[in-house]
Amino acid sequence: MCIGIQYLAQGYWGIVALGLIFAVYYFLEDRHFQLTVKWARDVESPPSPDLGKYDDIVSPIYKLLRFRGNELKALKHLSHSVLSAAQALPAAAITLDRSFHIEWCNGLAEKMLGLSYEQDKGYNIFNLVRLPEFFEYAQNGDWSHSFVTHMESDGQFRCLKFDLNQYSEEGILMLCQDITQLEKLRTTQQDFVANVSHEIRTPLTVLIGFLETLQDLPPEAVSPEQRKQYETLMHEQAQRMLAIVADLLTLSTLESTQASGGQKLVLAQLIESAGQLAHSLSKGKHKFIFEIDEKLAIHGQQTEISSAISNLMTNAVRYTPTDGTITVSWYKDNKGNAVFSVNDTGLGIAKQDIPRITERFYRVDKSRSRASGGTGLGLAITKHIVIRHNAKLVIDSEINKGSTFSIIFPPDSIINEPNIRSSKKLAVHA
Ligand code: ADP
Repeated sequence: MCIGIQYLAQGYWGIVALGLIFAVYYFLEDRHFQLTVKWARDVESPPSPDLGKYDDIVSPIYKLLRFRGNELKALKHLSHSVLSAAQALPAAAITLDRSFHIEWCNGLAEKMLGLSYEQDKGYNIFNLVRLPEFFEYAQNGDWSHSFVTHMESDGQFRCLKFDLNQYSEEGILMLCQDITQLEKLRTTQQDFVANVSHEIRTPLTVLIGFLETLQDLPPEAVSPEQRKQYETLMHEQAQRMLAIVADLLTLSTLESTQASGGQKLVLAQLIESAGQLAHSLSKGKHKFIFEIDEKLAIHGQQTEISSAISNLMTNAVRYTPTDGTITVSWYKDNKGNAVFSVNDTGLGIAKQDIPRITERFYRVDKSRSRASGGTGLGLAITKHIVIRHNAKLVIDSEINKGSTFSIIFPPDSIINEPNIRSSKKLAVHA
C-alpha cells in the first residue's frame, strides 16, 4: 500500500488519487459519525447498521438499553397490577411509613375515611383519622387483634374494623373494613337464638310443671278427670313445641336453598284444600266467600304456595272474631298481575306494626297468637316464599276493621292464559 501510494504520489495523477482516497475516507467517517450522533439523540430507536467502527460502541449500549427497557416495562406492568389489585380491595387500604405518615391510599380509603391521596400524602394518619382509642391501639404495638369502633363514615354511622400490619422495616399497611352488616347479622342471630329459646322454654316449663305435679302428688290426689285434663294440656304444649320446630325447619330450608324449578299451579285447587283447613279451624264461626278465577294458573312451587295461602287463610280465621267474614280472591288485576288475597273483618293491625309482622316471632298480641296456636313464624315463612316466587306481599289493614293480605304474582309468572273467557266461582259458606 505504502509503495503504491509512493508510486502514485510521484506524479500528478498520484496526488489526485491520494486526494480522492482521503476525500472518500473523510466522507464515510463523517457519515458514520453523523449517524451515531443521530442515534444518540434518540437512543430508543434502533441504530443504523452502517455505523462503521462506532458500531462496536453503539451496539452493546443499545442492547443494554433494550434489556433495561424491557425490565422497566415488566416492572411498570407489575406495579400497575399491584396498584389495581389494591384499588379493588374490598377494604380501605393505606400504606404508612414507620411514623404513620401516609404514603399511599386506595379509593375506598378516600371514601370511607374521607382522605384525599393528593392532599393528604405525607400527613400523619392520626391527624386525619381522629380516634384517640385508635391512636392508643397503634402506639401499643400489639396488633394481633383488630380495633373495632363505631363512627361516621361516608355520611353514615358505621361499624369499622381497623387492622395494622408491619409489612417491612419501613412500611405499615393499614386496612379498614365496614362490618356494619356483619354486626347486624350477629345481633340478629343472637336475638333469634334468644327468641327461639324463649319460645321453646315457655311450653317446656308448662310441660315440666304438669309432670312434676303428677309425680309429686299421690295417685289418689288426682282424679281421673284432672289427670285427663293435665294430659290434654301437656299434649297441647308438646304440639306447640313441635309446631315451632317444624316452622323453624321450614324457614331454615327456605333460607338455605335456591328456589327450585316449580310447575304449573291451578291455584283454585290449592285454595280449595286450604279452604277445608280454614273451615275446620273456624268450626262454623265465620262466613267464607270465595271469588276464584278457576282457570288462572301460575308457575310455582306447589308445597310452598300451598303453605303461603293456607297460612294467610288460617291467620284470617285466628284473628277474626266469631261471625266475621273472610273473603278469599284469586284474579288477574288490570296490570296483568295474578293476585291472591284474603280479606277479613277481624281485629286489624295498627299501622306501626304492619312493617314488622313479617319478622320472625313478631306478634301484635302475644297471648292471642299463642292461644290460637300461632308460632309467630307463619308470615316470615310466607314472605320468604313470596320473594322466592318474585312476587310481592302487600298488607292493608285497619285496626278493628279488618285486614287484607295479598300476594301479587308478576304477569310473567302466569301460564296458560285462558283464551276463552275466564270463569269465576262465587261461593258462600256459613
Ligand atoms: P302467628 O303464629 O303469631 O300468627 P304470623 O307470623 O302468622 O304468626 O303472624 C304474625 C302476627 O301478625 C300475628 O301474631 C298477628 O299479631 C298478626 N296477624 C297476622 N295475620 C293477621 C290478621 N289476619 N289479622 C290481624 N292480625 C294478624
